[in-house]
Amino acid sequence: MPPEKVPAPGGARLQRKLREVEARCAELRACLASLDEALQAGEDRAAVMRRVAESACRLGRADASAVFLAEERSQGLRLVATVGESRMHLAGPWASLVAMAYDEGVPVHLDRRAGWSYLAIPGARAGQARAMLVVGRRGRAFGPEEVAYLSVLAEQAVVAGSNLRLYEHLHQAAYTDRMTGLPNYRYFETYLEQILGQVGTGAFRELALLMVDLDHFKYVNDRFGHLKGDEVLRRVGVALREAVRPGDLVARYGGEEFTVVLPGTNVRAAEEVAERVRQRIEDLRWERVLGEPWHLSASVGVASLSAGRQLFTSLLAAADGAMYRAKALGRNRVVRVEEAGGAAELREDTVIASLRYRNGETLHALAALLDERDHYTLDHSMRMSLLARRLAAELGLSAPELQAVELGCLLHDVGKVRVSTGVLHKPGVLDPAEWDEVRRHPEVGRDLLQRVGEWGLVLDIVAYHHERWDGRGYPLGLRGQAIPRLARLVAIVDAFAAMRAPRPYRLALDLREALQQLEQGRGASFDPQIVDRLMDMLRREGEPP
Ligand code: GH3
Ligand code: MG
Ligand code: MG
Repeated sequence: MPPEKVPAPGGARLQRKLREVEARCAELRACLASLDEALQAGEDRAAVMRRVAESACRLGRADASAVFLAEERSQGLRLVATVGESRMHLAGPWASLVAMAYDEGVPVHLDRRAGWSYLAIPGARAGQARAMLVVGRRGRAFGPEEVAYLSVLAEQAVVAGSNLRLYEHLHQAAYTDRMTGLPNYRYFETYLEQILGQVGTGAFRELALLMVDLDHFKYVNDRFGHLKGDEVLRRVGVALREAVRPGDLVARYGGEEFTVVLPGTNVRAAEEVAERVRQRIEDLRWERVLGEPWHLSASVGVASLSAGRQLFTSLLAAADGAMYRAKALGRNRVVRVEEAGGAAELREDTVIASLRYRNGETLHALAALLDERDHYTLDHSMRMSLLARRLAAELGLSAPELQAVELGCLLHDVGKVRVSTGVLHKPGVLDPAEWDEVRRHPEVGRDLLQRVGEWGLVLDIVAYHHERWDGRGYPLGLRGQAIPRLARLVAIVDAFAAMRAPRPYRLALDLREALQQLEQGRGASFDPQIVDRLMDMLRREGEPP
């Protein structure tokens, strides 16, 4: 007979106990991991602390739990989450328990009071309780194991609490303009993008945006100094806040420019709000701040959301355009976007302003307006720029070249601002004078850019994107390698994106048809080498989404 294992006395119980401990440890690890996950995912305080409370219930085999965190500046604890029986919400028998555990810094039991047992466990940092878990269950008292597991969880709640606090501070700092205390551009952008998704979903049907720019603000600085200027901006911020409803967003856009987002407001109502804002700024009295009377005013542009204009960038550009129009009309006034001319009458001063700002937002906005004006869908340039970047990478272009290609795609048609809408949309054949107007747009574009800073390689793209490989393009009729390479690239991408977009007079070509056309243009309109690479890439990987 093989030797038999003789179990040690109490062995089965020990084994069982061991398994139980292992299972509990696994549970604890899972709880801690889920907490970690919640923090990583950026869940807010309430959600994270609810997880702690749920974990406490599970690990403590409890019917109810509550989590407290230490107040940041004052002594004492604040209830931040509860789970389970409603009696935990009340200042029940455990209130004194919490106080005792907090003062002593050790776990405190209360057994079988009115049929319930309770346990309060502090989580401490530097000898000071920073968090408190309280669990309760019907009947059976809590044992040393539960104390052990919940202590680990309580320590973790302390860590989570301080991480959350840090995150909240950072979050607030990142989204607040320090000078005025208003939300900053970053917040405005995030908020507007998020809220644009809700327009028309039932939350509200309309949305309006005001762009408020102080008039001749430079004089304030020049005459009274920057510090006084700052004080003026702070007060204007307060005045704006007071002029609108609590649900409206007032943000500092930058410099002496503010934006107001008005959810659920149509353009007429928004115009009234804008007028109130303008009046309010005009009514401000400055003797006390500046030491002498001063007249401050603002120009306000109003844009609202209508179908097909749901892009953050085009709404912003529309409000901006209206604001510049208000400046041009003599300042201290409100201009609605229709008066400013919608996309169809994009103005040169708006273009110059966008180029002057030269940040991603405004350039995309400008590109979207140019596309729209050209009867393209709004995102033609954006699609071009995506595809062009991929092609440029495929060709092994350098980082500065890649960047130029991207900008070039957005701005290649900027000169069309000087082509009249009638000509741009003329259904029939252009007469020689009209044709001349169109042919000038690459050079007009280059000149506009040159008026506002350094653009490097982008200038070549804008100036030569209508040249053809065979020398039959415009404005110069350059041929082959004489055309700057990036312009050759953008010309191809522009043509391809146009084929793939529906036009007023035809449907979009499908990918196969578009590839055929590229093939036909090879060596005629298009640089054969570059077009080959594009065709390879499209056949291999398809189009970017
Ligand atoms: P207008 O808009 O009417 O055309 O004239 P403006 O003088 O307001 O125009 P511009 O936009 O050219 O000048 C804005 C001025 O605002 C220039 C800049 O020094 C000042 N500014 C921008 N940010 C601040 C700031 O934080 N504090 C102070 N004091 N001044 C600022
Ligand atoms: Mg300004
Ligand atoms: Mg100004």
